Amino acid sequence: MPNAQLVYEQLLTAFKEIALLQSCQTILGWDQRTYMPAKGVGLRSRQMALLAGMLHAKITAPDIGSRLNTLKASDLASGANPESAANIRELAYSYDKLVKLPREWVEEFTRIKAMAQTVWVEARKTNDFALFLPHLKTIIDFKRQYADMIGYDDDPYDALLDDFEPGATYKEIGQVFAAFRDELVALAAQIAASTVRPDGSILTRDYPVEVQEKFGKEAAAAIGFDFDGGRLDQTTHPFCSTLGPGDVRITTRFYPRFFPAAFFGIIHESGHGIYNQGLPEEHYGTPLGSSVSLGIHESQSRMWENMVGRSRTAWRHFFPRAKAYFPQALTGVSEDDFYFAINEVKPSLIRVEADEVTYNLHIILRFELEHALAVGQLKAEEVPAAWNEKFRALLGISPSTDTEGCLQDIHWSGGMIGYFPTYALGNLYAAQLFAQAGSEIPGLEAGFSEGNFAPLRQWLTEKIYRLGKRYRAAELVKVVTGKPLSHEPLIRYLRGKFGRLYRL
Ligand code: ZN
Repeated sequence: MPNAQLVYEQLLTAFKEIALLQSCQTILGWDQRTYMPAKGVGLRSRQMALLAGMLHAKITAPDIGSRLNTLKASDLASGANPESAANIRELAYSYDKLVKLPREWVEEFTRIKAMAQTVWVEARKTNDFALFLPHLKTIIDFKRQYADMIGYDDDPYDALLDDFEPGATYKEIGQVFAAFRDELVALAAQIAASTVRPDGSILTRDYPVEVQEKFGKEAAAAIGFDFDGGRLDQTTHPFCSTLGPGDVRITTRFYPRFFPAAFFGIIHESGHGIYNQGLPEEHYGTPLGSSVSLGIHESQSRMWENMVGRSRTAWRHFFPRAKAYFPQALTGVSEDDFYFAINEVKPSLIRVEADEVTYNLHIILRFELEHALAVGQLKAEEVPAAWNEKFRALLGISPSTDTEGCLQDIHWSGGMIGYFPTYALGNLYAAQLFAQAGSEIPGLEAGFSEGNFAPLRQWLTEKIYRLGKRYRAAELVKVVTGKPLSHEPLIRYLRGKFGRLYRL
């Protein structure tokens, strides 16, 4: 029997090296989406393919499998050693999944996804669902094969969901969403019937881009994004890239006559960035140095963006700053009017432009449709009609083109079926965690009005960031809040905030 401690250290060394190689992939990807000249794409694809091949070989090397087998049977995987047990659990989990997939299948699916994405861009541009349909069919077939190869207990969709929210199931999420859905529809209807309305034109005045950038960076730094270990750049589809300790990069896009997009985009990506900057450096490259799941990640971006960034108290601090930065646009505008404008609720067709209330309905729609596709209850050709019908039922409006409907998102064309629920889970986790923070930190929200955001960041660092992947998402929520995930904290938060704004 080999010495388990030694084997464990060898395994971690291998994964730390894998993480370094991955960080090279990340920097190349970041560069491609920010500064790379158009003609660089050929060379970049070859660089990326080379790294992907090297990574695959390293991760699936036979000695990784044999080391994991040794460790699974050792004391280091037992409850007496929670840290090493978490590392072994998570490494074995992803390894076992990866080796179930034949290499030819992975290569074929990669090719299919690349083709589908190119066709999707064209189909969206020309509002031509029929063009995309054969590709969508193939993707669904491949995802169903994937579920069969990976295996599942109840529902094939669980195997897909698991890639983005490990351990989550259709049944559990479906129950939370079902309860949540009716409450949201009722709240959105009440808001629509209210006679008070914000003046949205406040936000579409002249907001010079250089000034937006300055103000956005100031706000990001105020909530705790560390610019000595990060930077902000411009892109078309904003994202946050984490190379590793000391290098976390956020991106945004600016509109000279629309204030919220860049500002709240920066706060959102800073939320992702703050999480990554708070991960324990000593565990870099291992599960204990990694984030829990997409849902927990999104809970951080959403909490900073909405629960903090769009809060009444934070704008007591930020509004005088905004007035100094944009004296022309904000002349004669009151703090209350501005606060209402940035919190307008209105059913809209495009998910990424949706407000805090209706956003979740956009997600529930996609969750229900993609589940039906994955289990074979819905055919790909039926998607546009099913989309429009569900949209009307949930949001009271319906798109007149597929470009504004079922073709708007990139996810399905990239094979990401099971991804959407993590957005709504993010909102649910955020509300439950934020309510808990409020009950443990005295004067939490009053602090925001003085620009004091550090207590929240410290609390999150201690309760979530420092733990890496020690717990799965559902367990983490229970450990931190003492209760399983529920839709109630989010509904309470939304009813409170929008009930006051719309005088319900
Ligand atoms: Zn996000």
